[in-house]
Amino acid sequence: MTSPRVEIDLGKIQANARCLVRRLGDYGISVTGVTKAVCGQPDVAEAMLDGGVAGLADARIKNVVRMRTAGINCPISMIRAPLVSEMENVIQHCDASYNTDMDTILKLGAAAKQQGTSHDVILMVEMGDMREGILPESLNDFAARVIATPGVALKGIAANFACMDNVAPTADDMAALSRLADNVEGACGPFVALVSGGGSANLPWALGEGSTGRINNLRLGEAILLGTDPATGHPISGLHTDAFALYAEVIETRNKPSAILPASIAPELGGLRLVRNDVLRTRTILAVGQQDTDTNGLTFPTEITFIGATSDHAVVDTTKSAVSVGSEMKIGMNYSALMRAMSAPNVAKVVHGKQKMNGRSKHCEIQPYLTLV
Ligand SMILES: *Cc1c(COP(=O)(O)O)cnc(C)c1O
Repeated sequence: MTSPRVEIDLGKIQANARCLVRRLGDYGISVTGVTKAVCGQPDVAEAMLDGGVAGLADARIKNVVRMRTAGINCPISMIRAPLVSEMENVIQHCDASYNTDMDTILKLGAAAKQQGTSHDVILMVEMGDMREGILPESLNDFAARVIATPGVALKGIAANFACMDNVAPTADDMAALSRLADNVEGACGPFVALVSGGGSANLPWALGEGSTGRINNLRLGEAILLGTDPATGHPISGLHTDAFALYAEVIETRNKPSAILPASIAPELGGLRLVRNDVLRTRTILAVGQQDTDTNGLTFPTEITFIGATSDHAVVDTTKSAVSVGSEMKIGMNYSALMRAMSAPNVAKVVHGKQKMNGRSKHCEIQPYLTLV
């Protein structure tokens, strides 16, 4: 089979989504499935939907169009602020978008009116991650302007944590977001329907002891796809962590001295020195590199250690396990490695477990269980 390739187990993604939907449902929190790490791969999106997510979200309009083209007609929101240059597409394909800029919102409203529709706006509030967001003290005024803008409706407010600073939110942060929802309602009138508390890094808080307040939505990517907590990298109990695997082929395996010989030996200059080269280690080269994935985010089988990678090669130490040229190695990926592999054109994607679920998957008759894309 072609390599490198990512193999995707849709059943595990569906099970992860279902587990999170159920657990958060007990707290009155809905789940939006975030598809950006898989470039909007439609089968993965369907698996999330089959797991019961309330809707999908992606950061790039191209990915949204890919899902729409595949026939996915659930609510999809744009989680990165829409680009002024792609406004028409955002209105056409997304039900809602997360916003921080008033000029953009005015343009969204104008584009929506032109298309004879209305677009939902969710205001992203800066709560300390210092990526995107309206400052809390400006939120009421900002919301009032959105409400007064034709073509858009204020659907809710949201916050983002642990994207830039990798720090999980505290209960105080989340209580502050709840209060902001109350404040906007007090100052501007309309009910703030959606209070989206963040991504997978918020799960420990959401599933913890304290009150979840007004937070009624989380946007989950990593937890559904990889079963891990982005703030710590640790697996989340009850979730599959192996829905994705990267396969790469061995192109060389050879015993080599563990120490590198000096580049130039010039005895007359007294440059001669002794190096230990009796310790032979088995070095294996895989045909996968930085062009294909984030090689620092790979997990190799036990007993195999990563040495380094270049654009097209990854070198591993296989002294303790026998491998042969032409064989394949199964490798785990973290979020960054997954994202790069899924967007790399030279990495094949193979989907397992595609079934007719709720009659939604459309291409079953053609390729029942295996799709090479
Ligand atoms: C990527 C992203 C998410 C999902 O984050 P995960 O850590 O993968 O759950 C949520 N919200 C926004 C705005 C994002 O960009």
